Amino acid sequence: MSQPDAADIIQPSSGAHITLPAWYAGAHHNGLIIPKTKYGRMVFMIPFLGHVIAGTTDAKCAVSDRPTARGREVGFILEALQDYLDIQVRPSDVLSTWSGIRPLAADPRAKAEHLIMEEPDGMITVSGGKWTTYRSMAEEAVDLAMATGRMPPNARPHSRTARLPLLGGAGYTHTLPQQLAQVHGPASAEAAAGVASPAALAKTGAGRGAGSGRVVIGEDTAAHLAQTAEDRGLGARLVAGHPFLEAEVVYAVWHEYCQTPDDFLARRTRLAFLDARAALSALPRVVDLMAAECGWDGARRSTMSASARDYLATFLPAPAAAANAAAAASAVAAATPAAAA
Ligand SMILES: Cc1cc2nc3c(=O)[nH]c(=O)nc-3n(C[C@H](O)[C@H](O)[C@H](O)COP(=O)(O)OP(=O)(O)OC[C@H]3O[C@@H](n4cnc5c(N)ncnc54)[C@H](O)[C@@H]3O)c2cc1C
Repeated sequence: MSQPDAADIIQPSSGAHITLPAWYAGAHHNGLIIPKTKYGRMVFMIPFLGHVIAGTTDAKCAVSDRPTARGREVGFILEALQDYLDIQVRPSDVLSTWSGIRPLAADPRAKAEHLIMEEPDGMITVSGGKWTTYRSMAEEAVDLAMATGRMPPNARPHSRTARLPLLGGAGYTHTLPQQLAQVHGPASAEAAAGVASPAALAKTGAGRGAGSGRVVIGEDTAAHLAQTAEDRGLGARLVAGHPFLEAEVVYAVWHEYCQTPDDFLARRTRLAFLDARAALSALPRVVDLMAAECGWDGARRSTMSASARDYLATFLPAPAAAANAAAAASAVAAATPAAAA
């Protein structure tokens, strides 16, 4: 907007991932990181929500609302793992495939992975960056705005970001999971550590016990879920082999502003990322439950269902493409300079 003729300052880069069954991580739930595969790129394999995710690629791509893992990217990941695992890494074991687009800073002036600068007309550009650096980017951007004198005169001289705890971060200590386990049982600790779903928490009743008066992560969620499951007879699992309960759909609609079945299956739960076929088989029941809660008519229901089906299809592994690993893998690896992850 500031300079219509400016060169691109972002190089979009696709980062594909695959999900494998938990047993890929072995009995001890091991993670594996290969800092430098034969193509030079780092590849990892880590336990995630009762499964294993592996990735990733770093290939120039076009920006799309629905990025998908390309067959050759999946092949690259499988081949990299095969070089380090004794078992046969089979495309048929892949449960889901997906990709995200990194906004890499392409501008040579970028000192780090992001670029923050003042344009000649005073607009401040923030580009690139990552999750682990977003607060320092915010700090730099605000400080630059202060320094260039375009903030209100009564504004503070520097960003306050560094001293503000994140929501939920006040009083956090690294022993919080253990403290929760002592008060409420192990499921609370797992939830605090991010390894248990609210449903698992609800099932054990953890989070409701003890009455310590302290805020327990997930306590409200667990109590609501348990109540909904009991009152409405929605304690059944949405799909066999995964912990998500029917009650979670109702909870997501009423307490998390969930409006679409694909949002529920991809983000409120992670089922699409964990197991694409399971997400597709859960879809009709999710649509039923959401239609009842949201009052959808037949037409709306069909639109929602079709749109979710299209989206979930982007996670389906394509074994034939994945099998075509070796030739394509080197092309993927060579496509862009290595990003951090
Ligand atoms: C492959 C890859 C690897 C990365 N590796 C790293 C790394 O190693 N370290 C690091 O620090 N960062 C990494 N990043 C960057 C990091 O993932 C992002 O910086 C971070 O996720 C941004 O968080 P966010 O909440 O701002 O946006 P997002 O995580 O993108 O969340 C936005 C959410 O809003 C949803 N949404 C969008 N539009 C709508 C709508 N209309 N209605 C409802 N929902 C909507 C999206 O689906 C999404 O879930 C990586 C990114 C990629 C793609």
